[in-house]
Amino acid sequence: MHRKLMVAFLLCAAPAMAQTVAIRAGSLIDPAKGTVSKDQVIVVKDGKIAAVGASVAIPKDAQVVDLSKEWVMPGLMDAHTHVTFEEIPGKAPFEAMYLKESTAYRALQGVHIGQVLLNAGFTTMRDVGNEADYACEDLRKAIHQGWVDGPTLQCSGKIIGPFGGQSKGMPEEVGGFWLHEYIDADTADEIRKAIHQNIYYGADLIKLATDNSDYFYTEDEIRAAADEAHNAGRALAVHVYGGKAADNVIRGGADSVEHGFTLTEEQLKLMKEKGTYLVGTDFPEAHLAGLNPSNDTLADAKKLGDQIIARLNVANKVGVKMAFGSDTVTSMPGRTRADMVFDYLAVWKAAGVSNANILKAMTTNCADLLRISKERGAIAEGQYGDIIAMPGNPLEEIESLRKVNFVMKNGKIVREAK
Ligand SMILES: [Zn+2]
Repeated sequence: MHRKLMVAFLLCAAPAMAQTVAIRAGSLIDPAKGTVSKDQVIVVKDGKIAAVGASVAIPKDAQVVDLSKEWVMPGLMDAHTHVTFEEIPGKAPFEAMYLKESTAYRALQGVHIGQVLLNAGFTTMRDVGNEADYACEDLRKAIHQGWVDGPTLQCSGKIIGPFGGQSKGMPEEVGGFWLHEYIDADTADEIRKAIHQNIYYGADLIKLATDNSDYFYTEDEIRAAADEAHNAGRALAVHVYGGKAADNVIRGGADSVEHGFTLTEEQLKLMKEKGTYLVGTDFPEAHLAGLNPSNDTLADAKKLGDQIIARLNVANKVGVKMAFGSDTVTSMPGRTRADMVFDYLAVWKAAGVSNANILKAMTTNCADLLRISKERGAIAEGQYGDIIAMPGNPLEEIESLRKVNFVMKNGKIVREAK
């Protein structure tokens, strides 16, 4: 190649030069403490926060972003998402997506849903499965390469469960079609092997679904999974609603109970004692009504909606560690995935959780559960530049989060305040 052409080519192909950005933050929220600092300057350099404070000087070469009239806080997180999955209520059971959509289609769907959520302020998401053949891991790589914008993603790989995935009552002659999305593992050794497979294909965490049938994992099997995941530096998330199956999950050492709709106060107290997170996926009643019931628990939206609020209320009083998780998988006409995720705020409010604790659950606590507290979840020196802003104060009115109008991820402005 001609030398001049070569230089031109390299310039075009090189990623955008790292830019220093200085943000004037009128009101800076620290969700870990629920406090506000006025008139702060945040300097972001090479993707990370270089300095923050009232008397921080603005570097000469910095792009200045004026958020002096805004409420600024760390990017939001969701510990239970399915970015590569969407069910259209009333159209088809969720199994139809396994059969009709390719892994490539699901990855592209993940680009779209990930961008909708990123633009709404969710800079980090933990995807807990239903991603066909590891679509989330490919999406994560594409985002990392800078080919597409998207949130920072953690991916679970295939969901590991006792025989049958999350499908019930399928005819025997159909065969294990759920294996497109799940790994059947019915002994501690099979669980270990499934974990190895997921890690091999890029899983950042391990997700089990234990109680989709009358059989479920024993405490020893959960412990085997927890040990295997922890030895590999990964958290163990377990889908369980309640009952004896949940006892086993909590006692076996899972890092988080996903859903836990029917957990008792006693179980919540045990979780507090053991430091287990509740990722409650606290569905609003209207969303529950749109789900295709896969089991009896999901059949009565009103009853379950009330039960979720009551359970969240008790969990909050007991003082269980809680990380925000939405589990939004359905689509509703005229509404984005982000609109639907913000609907959960009303449930948290109805359960009596303070706005400060909701913000904590959506940032600090998620970062802790995701094992990324040293990198994300706070606006502090050394953290990644994951910063959002909005015109209203979410500590006063939590619904202000719906009006996020500035989003920065890894120091890159993906949405500018107007
Ligand atoms: Zn889920």
